[in-house]
Amino acid sequence: ETDAPRDFVRQIIRDDLAKGKHTAIRTRFPPEPNGYLHIGHAKAICLDFGIAREFEGWCNLRLDDTNPGKEDPEFVEGIKDDVRWLGYEWHDLRHASDYFEVFYRSAVKLIEDGHAYVDDLTAEQVREYRGTLTEPGRNSPFRDRSVAENLDLFRRMRAGEFEDGSKTLRAKIDMSSGNINLRDPAIYRIRKVTHQNTGDAWPIYPMYDYAHCLSDALEGITHSLCTLEFEDHRPLYDWFVDNVDLPNHPELWQHMRDAGFRTEPAKPRQIEFSRLNLSYMITSKRKLAQMVNEAVVDGWDDPRMNTLRGLRRRGFTPGGIRLLIERLGVSKQNSVIDYAIFENCVREDLDGSAPRRMAVIDPLKLVITNLPEGYEETLTFSNHPKDESFGTRQVPFSRELWIEREDFAEVPPKGFHRLKPEGEVRLRGVGIVKCEQIVKNADGEITELHCTLDLESRSGMPGADRKVKGTIHWVSAKHGVATEIRLYDRLFSVPTPDDESDGKTWLEHINPDAKRIVRGWLEPSAAGAAPEQRYQFERLGYFVADRIEHRAEAPVFNRTVTLRDAWAK
Ligand code: ATP
Ligand code: MG
Ligand code: MG
Repeated sequence: ETDAPRDFVRQIIRDDLAKGKHTAIRTRFPPEPNGYLHIGHAKAICLDFGIAREFEGWCNLRLDDTNPGKEDPEFVEGIKDDVRWLGYEWHDLRHASDYFEVFYRSAVKLIEDGHAYVDDLTAEQVREYRGTLTEPGRNSPFRDRSVAENLDLFRRMRAGEFEDGSKTLRAKIDMSSGNINLRDPAIYRIRKVTHQNTGDAWPIYPMYDYAHCLSDALEGITHSLCTLEFEDHRPLYDWFVDNVDLPNHPELWQHMRDAGFRTEPAKPRQIEFSRLNLSYMITSKRKLAQMVNEAVVDGWDDPRMNTLRGLRRRGFTPGGIRLLIERLGVSKQNSVIDYAIFENCVREDLDGSAPRRMAVIDPLKLVITNLPEGYEETLTFSNHPKDESFGTRQVPFSRELWIEREDFAEVPPKGFHRLKPEGEVRLRGVGIVKCEQIVKNADGEITELHCTLDLESRSGMPGADRKVKGTIHWVSAKHGVATEIRLYDRLFSVPTPDDESDGKTWLEHINPDAKRIVRGWLEPSAAGAAPEQRYQFERLGYFVADRIEHRAEAPVFNRTVTLRDAWAK
């Protein structure tokens, strides 16, 4: 209890429980299945499911599928998968479309009570009549239709008698309200579009503001958490909940039970929190979809994408993502979070959980001339420097090794502590080598380094503790397994790609170097990794075996994140 988060949302819930307003906490996560989930959604997921778990209540996964045409069953499956990957399980899986009949009957009730009317104004006229922030709206000439006429017209809308867009059902609230959302908002629109769940059963579809709050009430949701842009919609949320008054509508409850839903009505409360925005990223499904459709990226699961699929393929962990959300907390303050904070959370999670291996991604041959031709040996390495439970592994060592090209400098800059002509460096787990000779090809490129190994510096020998400044990693050339390595970086080269004040559109800020493919060498034990196995390749960063393309005989590793922030100034 003491280290449980104490943000304002949880405080409201504690107070509600203390007052006896609710006996159980029920939440929902309500994505629209018009794309894959992104890192912003992870915040909503962690809150909705996390709070339900903390307070021993439950959370529904509800697909907000009131917008046919843009929605797709592929996205529904993707969303389910991603929620589970983040570590959460829903109480019930629901669709807003499960309630289309209830929504319809509730609208009939609103009409009967004089709270709704059928309007013939065109969309453009509706906009014109709505007024502005400073000017009140005007009543539609159709606002005073009789209940009988409204009921008749609404039934005929439902029967498919009218053209798309020719009529709407509107709530009769207040055209002069200071809150534009209350100026007779639409409840239903006519759209003869096939729906992924209900097919052609409905020629009319409910609007988000109407469907969302009623879905919450129907499912018995106590706290309906959403992002800040809905703050101004809250009065409308409450208006629909109060005027439809589901708890006192036994006929609708009977209908729900007949349809197989075990649901108790509730009066839900909407609470808004700030969106998660990360620098160097874009959190808008529409823009993510555009990058997929225009082949700017290789798909929704491209490791450069901040979709949960993309982050997963890149090697980001559910634990790292949850840590980020936990660290940032919940508030009503909108801000852009530094991407480096996200990377640090992932590093922190991977540091504890990823076994260590050695790999070389930009290979240079190093020959140990004082070992006999054909020399080999097997060394024992621990898999984790801070956690013995990871055990040990065998690493083959031999006379010829691959080292990182950048670990050698013919003309070393000041403070260079790796290998240089006549210099010494420690080979990780082996001993100290001295560079005796540089071999170059006809173009003057360095092809090999000839070194001698100080046999007295090997483990168990008297000189084992002799100090040299640098330690470098290596892979035995004879035993190394060739691998493809995909080096990923930030997809955008500026912190706020959405900011178009510099005259450039967000797409013009794509970082062309965000994906680089190289060939390197792995120690043999890394090659056989299962897909999605994560490792720290010593000194290089955290990597993951690609979940789609990695094979033991043709390994593919993606770099998740470097060990340190390369962008830090
Ligand atoms: P997008 O604009 O990317 O399509 P959305 O809000 O339309 O996002 P939904 O599928 O409707 O996407 O979102 C489901 C839930 O996730 C909503 O409760 C929404 O408020 C929340 N959500 C979406 N984006 C973010 C974000 N960046 N930070 C926090 N919560 C978010
Ligand atoms: Mg939405
Ligand atoms: Mg959206």
